[in-house]
Amino acid sequence: MPKIHVLASGSAGNCTLIETTAATLMVDCGTNLKTLRERAAAVGANLAKLKAILITHEHIDHLGGLGKALRYLSKQGIYPDIFVDVVTQAACAGRYFSDDKTVYHLRRFRVGECFGIDGFPGLEVQSFATSHDVANPCGFVFDFTNAPESPTSDAGAGQNSCRIGYCTDTGLITAAARAALDGCDALLLEANHDPEMLRTGSYAPPLKERVGGEHGHLSNEQFGVALQELAGPRLQAVCAMHLSHENNLPHLVADILDGLFADSSAATYVASQSQPVSFSV
Ligand SMILES: [Zn+2]
Ligand SMILES: [Zn+2]
Repeated sequence: MPKIHVLASGSAGNCTLIETTAATLMVDCGTNLKTLRERAAAVGANLAKLKAILITHEHIDHLGGLGKALRYLSKQGIYPDIFVDVVTQAACAGRYFSDDKTVYHLRRFRVGECFGIDGFPGLEVQSFATSHDVANPCGFVFDFTNAPESPTSDAGAGQNSCRIGYCTDTGLITAAARAALDGCDALLLEANHDPEMLRTGSYAPPLKERVGGEHGHLSNEQFGVALQELAGPRLQAVCAMHLSHENNLPHLVADILDGLFADSSAATYVASQSQPVSFSV
């Protein structure tokens, strides 16, 4: 079943890979090319298998590395499909995407739609609306069904399924997110800031308001409440995402995860800006 590599997570750059034996997809490409290549190699991920790049929104920490990555990949003969919401693509207004459209194939969707990805038989992707200060942000749920890389399993249909939820850069858990993220085997969910650190920290008041507002980022408290709602019997792995360097500390998030999952079989991870985090579900 899929391997998940959070290569980098935070306001200085976001990039996550989901890898099956057959193919790899990427969620956001906000790291620079050097970091992308080094960390993909460090976790043993094969960028030659990259079939798709999915974009959550147009902030630079999610798209800033895309142009150079596409040019590099095309030189290796790799031309991934780029999945982007139509409104987000318009908001990018030519930024981030390479001008050379021969290096990628654009696959436009509308937030809320489901779609498949070439190279991933049995995968359905559900996009869902998040709440953030951009044109039309979204998260994704990846439903892998009867993945072909598990041919040795003699379990019946349904046991070869895996559901991965990805939700960052949102000021609240939207109704669409709550519905989509139900019943996941793995949840990658934002835990951006400690409210007290944000309140007393160095950010200017308007930025504090933005980060803590309904169109900003999830606090640790919101993260914990959301996990209590979303954690179901299938949950095997939780990864806290997009921690603020200024307004959070990994041990605060780890404490929340320990409190929630100490008696659970679910594994917990805290993603980092400075090093990759990998796990399988
Ligand atoms: Zn971000
Ligand atoms: Zn953002």
